[in-house]
Amino acid sequence: MAAVLARPAPVAALARPLSRCSSKLAAAWTAPWPQRRPQAPERDARVAARNRLAELLQDMRKEETEEELNVPVVTNLEWQSPLSVVRYPDPRLRAQNARIGAFDDTLRRLAEEMFEVMYQDDGVGLAAPQVGVNVRLMVFNESGVKGKGEEIVLVNPQLLSLSGNPKLFEEGCLSFPNIYADVERPARVRVKAQDLKGKTFTLSLNGFVARIFQHEYDHLDGKLFHDRMAPPVLDSIRQQLVELEEEYLREHPDAQIQRVQ
Ligand SMILES: [Zn+2]
Repeated sequence: MAAVLARPAPVAALARPLSRCSSKLAAAWTAPWPQRRPQAPERDARVAARNRLAELLQDMRKEETEEELNVPVVTNLEWQSPLSVVRYPDPRLRAQNARIGAFDDTLRRLAEEMFEVMYQDDGVGLAAPQVGVNVRLMVFNESGVKGKGEEIVLVNPQLLSLSGNPKLFEEGCLSFPNIYADVERPARVRVKAQDLKGKTFTLSLNGFVARIFQHEYDHLDGKLFHDRMAPPVLDSIRQQLVELEEEYLREHPDAQIQRVQ
């Protein structure tokens, strides 16, 4: 090995690449400072994005493990028609959501009615706690239009993986009327869930529909979209959140609510 490394390369082979390389290097190092700098922040941003992704997955998996250990299973699902969307800061949005253990007609009708409510309110996704039923069920259709796109029902969903660079996107939530703000989420998810008959399946979601899933999945853990906003973004909607809290407390003076920090 040493002999190979030490053997001088033919001058002609070295000359051109070296001169190209050295002229590039020279250009880079003689360029004004602002022209050279962007590489480092871009690299830092990529590293920061990767770290955030790892933290987020760890955070969501930790919650999931805790959920599995502590969450009760409901075999006698009860809910009342007609359903309507509960608004922030209704305590049911922060309550624990039970795993579903009975795959019967009551569950099927709940999912159907959740789709109806979702379409009526111009939503693309809805989690059961948002209609005051604290169970691990979500429905979504990224088209937001009945009869168009694909309707997906996930019972007892579990997050298997998150991937792709986290992206900022303006989200709304049916439980927060007229509030829209940026939330950063990874672009892809892999999910395991049961269907309405209890059959387990896996699903890979990408882009907008992956974002919908993550938003609804948070609801099943009692987490709301403003919990994931960067501080300056949260500041931009804080007053609207406080107004919803005040409105709720006027109607429910004895309620124990979790206020925005
Ligand atoms: Zn929501």
